Amino acid sequence: STPEKVAIIGSGSFGSAAALSVARNAARFDFCDSEVRMYTFEEEITVGDGVVSFPETEKLSRIINKKHENPKYLPGVKLPDNLVSCPDLLTACLDATLLIFVMPFQFLKPLLPTVRKVMDPEARGVSLIKEVHFDEETLGVKLISKQIQDGLSFKKETDGRDRKFPCGVLMGANIASEIANGDFSESTLATRFRVNEEGDDLNEKTRIVLNNTESFRVYSIRDVEGCEACGALKNVIAIGAGFVDGLGMGSNTKAALMRIGIQEMERFCNDFLDGVEPSTFSESCGMADLITTCVGGRNRKCGEIFAKAVINGAPLSWDSIEEDHLNGQRLRGVKTTKQVHELLQSQDLLRLYPLFSKIYSIAYDGEPVDSIIDGLYIPNEVI
Ligand code: 13P
Repeated sequence: STPEKVAIIGSGSFGSAAALSVARNAARFDFCDSEVRMYTFEEEITVGDGVVSFPETEKLSRIINKKHENPKYLPGVKLPDNLVSCPDLLTACLDATLLIFVMPFQFLKPLLPTVRKVMDPEARGVSLIKEVHFDEETLGVKLISKQIQDGLSFKKETDGRDRKFPCGVLMGANIASEIANGDFSESTLATRFRVNEEGDDLNEKTRIVLNNTESFRVYSIRDVEGCEACGALKNVIAIGAGFVDGLGMGSNTKAALMRIGIQEMERFCNDFLDGVEPSTFSESCGMADLITTCVGGRNRKCGEIFAKAVINGAPLSWDSIEEDHLNGQRLRGVKTTKQVHELLQSQDLLRLYPLFSKIYSIAYDGEPVDSIIDGLYIPNEVI
């Protein structure tokens, strides 16, 4: 059978952390091609500190391949030798059977036609992208996995039939630096792949490629929609957790915010998506990701910086916070806050989501940070 050829599209902190685990597995499983390619958006990185050595620039992909480390997005972590960074997308995805997407969707979308041209025609995908988009046409949700599926499906030359690209998601309590340190984490893989001609269950094959029994334990479910929505929506609640921290409030307040937050997440899934399973919310992609992001995530941190700046009378824009504190990476939560708000507003449903609404008003409409408490209730209509 065709060997599994894994390509990782994206090499930010989470991309590099995921690549670390996948490349280790690819090296030890017979069914995998041991080389794992990682598409790297090329950047010039300053090397040398200007004291001991001259500062000069070098291409990020070259540094990764020479030093086996991503100094910009995952410094200090040794990457396996069989992980090859490719600045050229065609080379990265050539004949790939399993594509792992891990970059902001706005950058991924224009790449999809190229990926489709060179990937294996039977390829499947897993998205690690934690975003939701407001679909202005349907006034509904556009899932990233669905957009990837649409972008990579094609008409077969042999019989003219459509080949739908199957795309699942991997979401969970997965702060990149902790995974890279080897601290124990769980994650949820949601896929509905088929059994292939050789009789292999592609769901389990995918899980094995991503799993690491000692430190990155992956559990499979079939609820792609619920899993993906949880991964994105919890970032909104984490911005709210940052507001609570900025106000200097304690764990009780944050626990209340998380409890009400997960209820709004579930309500949102039921209002806008089909087939979401209640059990998904107690998987790593649900409750656990909400907890870790509200405690240790960058969304939380930026929410706290924003809140403190407002309270101190020197407000900061989200763009400047992103620029100063995220080292070139994107802050998903505030964008998702906006998308969710537009969606709820378009359907006249804001009153059923007091917490999502309040986080939006504080983040974008200049409402006082301490009014977050007014968002912490469950409306009578939904009890
Ligand atoms: P950040 O807030 O650091 O982006 O973390 C989000 C996350 O998804 C962790 O699982």
